[in-house]
Amino acid sequence: MKQYGILTDVTKCIGCNRCVKACKAGNQTGADRLWRWKKRIDDLSASRWTTILSTDNGEYVRKQCRHCVDPACVSACIVGALQKTPEGPVIYDDSICIGCRYCMMSCPYDIPRYSWEDAVPYIKKCTLCYERIKKGKIPYCVEACPTQATIFGERDELLAEAKRRLKAEPNKYVQKVWGEEEIGGTHVMYISNVDVDDLLAWKKDLGNAPLPHKTWVILNKMPAVFLGVGAVLGGVWWVIDRRDHLQQEKEAAVEDTESSEEKDESEEKSNDEKS
Ligand code: SF4
Ligand code: SF4
Ligand code: SF4
Repeated sequence: MKQYGILTDVTKCIGCNRCVKACKAGNQTGADRLWRWKKRIDDLSASRWTTILSTDNGEYVRKQCRHCVDPACVSACIVGALQKTPEGPVIYDDSICIGCRYCMMSCPYDIPRYSWEDAVPYIKKCTLCYERIKKGKIPYCVEACPTQATIFGERDELLAEAKRRLKAEPNKYVQKVWGEEEIGGTHVMYISNVDVDDLLAWKKDLGNAPLPHKTWVILNKMPAVFLGVGAVLGGVWWVIDRRDHLQQEKEAAVEDTESSEEKDESEEKSNDEKS
């Protein structure tokens, strides 16, 4: 099975935001919302799965899910809503998510977001455009980039291309491919003239060992420490119950509309026959 990924070259990004707009439009993530506790709309959110951050020195860097080779979020999800696909993307299933947010707590890069604006919130994040990849297409964000600052391909080939660039211009780049080895490697990788972890305020020195086993050690204790098992189960029941209730209301509304349309049609027909 081919393994795919994205390589972003920070030195080529001009901060045009076309990738962000293309992702929002293609994935229909909806309008950005400025929450009271936020000053700017430039971080990830349920409606912004990728974003561009800038420095005072004029560098631009794109933030998105790293699609870890061995993802902590998948390991942390107690109902299996998050899954690692054979092709590399880490995807999720809304219908299974119970809203516990363990994935948010476990992600070393602070990626998953909660859709607070929805009546029934879900976790949202970049999917590496998995549905498009399966059809042989490339992600919306990559397609939109005018400078090829962000490119898509097989992970091995992207890694080779990254190393080729580092070797060809040693004075231009920090001699590192972000995502090659840290926490077992990631499918979204970076090369840059400055430290990417600094640019994105990501934790440094995470080590090269995959994180899932550490995740379980922490999460096994978490309910007792922060929430209490009863509160967690209560929350789970509330989310599932509320979602089912809303779904039933939606289905009932559709049925009402359909039966009223059928009634209208039959009345029209009978009037036509009478006249
Ligand atoms: S970066 Fe975070 S959300 Fe993305 S795959 Fe890795 S652990 Fe999961
Ligand atoms: S890969 Fe797809 S979902 Fe992820 S940031 Fe790009 S367009 Fe958005
Ligand atoms: S489209 Fe390309 S150049 Fe423009 S902000 Fe995104 S990554 Fe940078």
